[in-house]
Amino acid sequence: MAADIIIIGSGFGGSVLASRLVEAGMKVVVLERGPWRDTVPVRAAGIEARKPLPRTGGLLSVLRSLRAPKGPRRGIRLNKHGYLELWIGDGIKVPCTSNVGGGSHIWAALLERAPAGFWDDRAPGLGDDTLSPHYDRVTKELKGVDPFDLSAFPNNGDIEWSHDDCFVRTEAGEQPLMGILFPGPDGDLSAVTDENGIVRQPLDFNRNNGMFGSPGASKSTVDALFLLPALKRGLEVRDLHEARRISANDSGGWAVEARDLRGGRNVTLEAPKLAVCAGTINTKALMLGSRETGGLDGLPALGDRLGANGDLIGKWPAGDRDTTLGPPSFGRVKVKGHEDSAYFILGGGEPPPVPGFLARGARSKAGRSVELVGMTQDAADGRCWWENGRFRFAFDLTGSPSYAAAMRAMDAVSEASGRTVDYPRTEVFTAHPAGGCRIASDASEGVVDGEGQVHGHPGLYVADGSIFPQPVGVPPSLSIAAWASHVAERIIRSN
Ligand SMILES: Cc1cc2nc3c(=O)[nH]c(=O)nc-3n(C[C@H](O)[C@H](O)[C@H](O)COP(=O)(O)OP(=O)(O)OC[C@H]3O[C@@H](n4cnc5c(N)ncnc54)[C@H](O)[C@@H]3O)c2cc1C
Repeated sequence: MAADIIIIGSGFGGSVLASRLVEAGMKVVVLERGPWRDTVPVRAAGIEARKPLPRTGGLLSVLRSLRAPKGPRRGIRLNKHGYLELWIGDGIKVPCTSNVGGGSHIWAALLERAPAGFWDDRAPGLGDDTLSPHYDRVTKELKGVDPFDLSAFPNNGDIEWSHDDCFVRTEAGEQPLMGILFPGPDGDLSAVTDENGIVRQPLDFNRNNGMFGSPGASKSTVDALFLLPALKRGLEVRDLHEARRISANDSGGWAVEARDLRGGRNVTLEAPKLAVCAGTINTKALMLGSRETGGLDGLPALGDRLGANGDLIGKWPAGDRDTTLGPPSFGRVKVKGHEDSAYFILGGGEPPPVPGFLARGARSKAGRSVELVGMTQDAADGRCWWENGRFRFAFDLTGSPSYAAAMRAMDAVSEASGRTVDYPRTEVFTAHPAGGCRIASDASEGVVDGEGQVHGHPGLYVADGSIFPQPVGVPPSLSIAAWASHVAERIIRSN
């Protein structure tokens, strides 16, 4: 049966969209450049072509590709099964994952809503009220639990770290929910099967389940929670398929030219509808490149208003604590005297995936520091463009007063603790790029309308972090998932 819609990318945006549309009876094909990862639920579902999460393979198991402003135009691809790609822009670096399930393997599983009023007055038919039921539904599906009362977990940011004289305790409701399957009473680590038949193992606080993924799936990932159930309803996922160009076809639909990385051949797929969900940076690379070769036209605001979510990542010596213990993030902390300067979280020490004989030393070193990460609604004054056959992007943190405020808060933590927080002062390393295909009521201001459809391009949709009209200033994935759920509802209604 021919596809009703092709979805490019299987992160939060792509997976939620695919799941909803399949549920409504549509024939959906997902193209994902990365492989299925070898986790308990994926194995239990009988998917044979799996690749391991980075554990002992060193840098090569981690780095898929390097995309720099110089060198080969398509970048240097080191390993097609690699976990993430590093994009280097002017003043900004972005890690982009490559997996079925996208960034849900690397994430710390913190679920936070966008600030009140975020969706209001962006485009006709859109507002906080429109998105609210979608937030509720995806929060439940991502199995968010409130860590406020979970004092039992090691390194609980709010309880254990607030003694440092640097932070004030958070109030009930101020902690982000965690999409984590915590151990049962008395630390029971027995596997649990959910209502969709998905098998997961609870989090073992002694084993690393952070940015290099969670083999037992104790972290909620969208491949397990959205794609596996949808496969049973007829979803087709083509892993290791990289979309290279999109264009309108003669029958009023859309064509995707892709590279089958397993088979080593080019393929073209067509469908009446197409959704680009390749993540903030790769969506723009694909769309700007396609416009350059005539596949798309117009879109004067494509690539404008890129933001970095105010991400400021500091490394802070941890005193006598072992920060490799506990969940991937220890939750939200509020810096004393700078409570409103930024949304800060603590991230656990992360041992690199080195060979076994080096593992102990690497873990002990990683456990001596903690990541203090600040997020703010920066000025989103960066941009993306196409130049000499390659994608380029730039962001200058000095344009955002919110960066200066977050830096002052980090300095206050250094002073109060007597341990220096080391953070970058001139360049941004962001896990949460935002914008460039922003929502707006017309094409001069943005790329998509309030339903996620690209202005002037019927049947073409965007559902990932690039649609944000400004950065959310908090962990953004729940908002991306809620947006995808909203876009799906509109597509189903229009069908
Ligand atoms: C260390 C770390 C921790 C994080 N922790 C959190 C957290 O706790 N909470 C939170 O809210 N967010 C967190 N994030 C951010 C989160 O990962 C992103 O917000 C989220 O993954 C973005 O979702 P997306 O759907 O926009 O894109 P992605 O999840 O990046 O998905 C895009 C997918 O598209 C695929 N793709 C790209 N190009 C192509 C192509 N040409 N053809 C086919 N497929 C393609 C990619 O391989 C990828 O699978 C974290 C990020 C990092 C790096």
